[in-house]
Amino acid sequence: MRYLARNNLACKVVDSRDNPPGLDMLRKEFPEIECELGPFREATFLDAAELIVSPGISLKNEAVARAIEAGISVTGDIDIFSRQAESPIVAVTGSNGKSTVVSMVGEVLRAAECSFAVGGNLDADPAKPALDLLAGARKDFYVLELSSFQLETTQCLAAEVATLLNLTEDHMDRYADMGEYQLAKMRIYNGCKKVVINRDFPMPEKIKGFTGPVWSFGFFEAEDSGVNLLEKEGETWVALGKEPIVPVSEIKVVGKHNLANAMAATALCLALGIEHSAIRSGLAAFPGLPHRCQWVANQGGVDFYNDSKGTNVGATIAAVEGLGEKISGQVVLIAGGESKGADFSGLVPALRKWVKQVVLIGADAAAIADVIGDECSFVFAPDMGAALGLARKVADEGDAVLLSPACASFDMFDNFRHRGQVFSESVSALQ
Ligand code: ADP
Repeated sequence: MRYLARNNLACKVVDSRDNPPGLDMLRKEFPEIECELGPFREATFLDAAELIVSPGISLKNEAVARAIEAGISVTGDIDIFSRQAESPIVAVTGSNGKSTVVSMVGEVLRAAECSFAVGGNLDADPAKPALDLLAGARKDFYVLELSSFQLETTQCLAAEVATLLNLTEDHMDRYADMGEYQLAKMRIYNGCKKVVINRDFPMPEKIKGFTGPVWSFGFFEAEDSGVNLLEKEGETWVALGKEPIVPVSEIKVVGKHNLANAMAATALCLALGIEHSAIRSGLAAFPGLPHRCQWVANQGGVDFYNDSKGTNVGATIAAVEGLGEKISGQVVLIAGGESKGADFSGLVPALRKWVKQVVLIGADAAAIADVIGDECSFVFAPDMGAALGLARKVADEGDAVLLSPACASFDMFDNFRHRGQVFSESVSALQ
């Protein structure tokens, strides 16, 4: 809205809710803009020169789909951003690790003394929605985190370098199947100059035909032109082929998934031509983001970790494995919430291996319990405070209590930040 107003572009705001959040602010800031509230009206869409569709609205929505059929062009904020941005765009998507990789790239660019702005879907300081990044002075680089929802309306991003970090099940309440989810994610590569791929994931067909420079990262199949882990002089390094770049001991964030993130950030920065020394300083300086496997407290030898951003099965597996390998005891996992149509069976091997007990909360607690069966002990809790009380009771010295819900938060909380905050406050209240 701010971008459209700044550029004097005539528009109308349409929201299917009668009283959407932020309405007061919108009316105050833009009193002259017409707002049409309540169920979508097809005629409004058919009248438009272009629809700028919010990521929250599926293009399968009946009224939107009819407008598309009638030839009305559809776009989103990311497409508009890419048409206007005059500096190279680094674009990151994937099921998990997007925010971490984008923030790591930001730290490296800072160490390289480049000017940059981070934003898009990124929900962490100092990120902004993509179009707000254009309001300030021009930057050397724009680093964007992009969700599959944003990519659905992105026709041609034309990034300098783009990556799909990984793909595991998520948002099955919006997509018909994994194929459709992957297709949305793959749009990140539209028009890009360079590509970063994860060697540990099967390479999508579309990338196989890409003729520009490809940088890869992964734990396996180390190759001269790829980023991998290297043993040298008694240290493990993030390396480019046989060339060491960053000692793993200098990277502060823990878990194998974060090593994958560090390798991805390294590959992206190499594709931008950043010096190895800046990559090393930047990755070593990155402290980790709040709500992502964040250490909160130690009580009586039990550590408490907030991984509220673990909102799908793949993320929770990564968090449980990363923590399980690090601690001397076992993990007590607090999980549950709004499932988004997920299949939880993938959790079971990690629960069997690393978890002492699961404390289940939220709307889909019973669905998770059904999948766990007798593979791991579990209990139900009505709220976060009670969940922590139960978790604390079963945790012994050396164990860790981990909130990593594998679910969205909307059934009980405003968002993942609110859920993480309630967790941290409830940990303090245990004392
Ligand atoms: P995103 O922005 O994609 O949601 P984040 O960087 O915010 O990703 O991390 C969210 C959670 O996903 C983390 O707290 C962790 O549980 C998990 N995670 C992070 N990186 C990875 C990865 N590379 N592979 C699997 N899970 C990951």
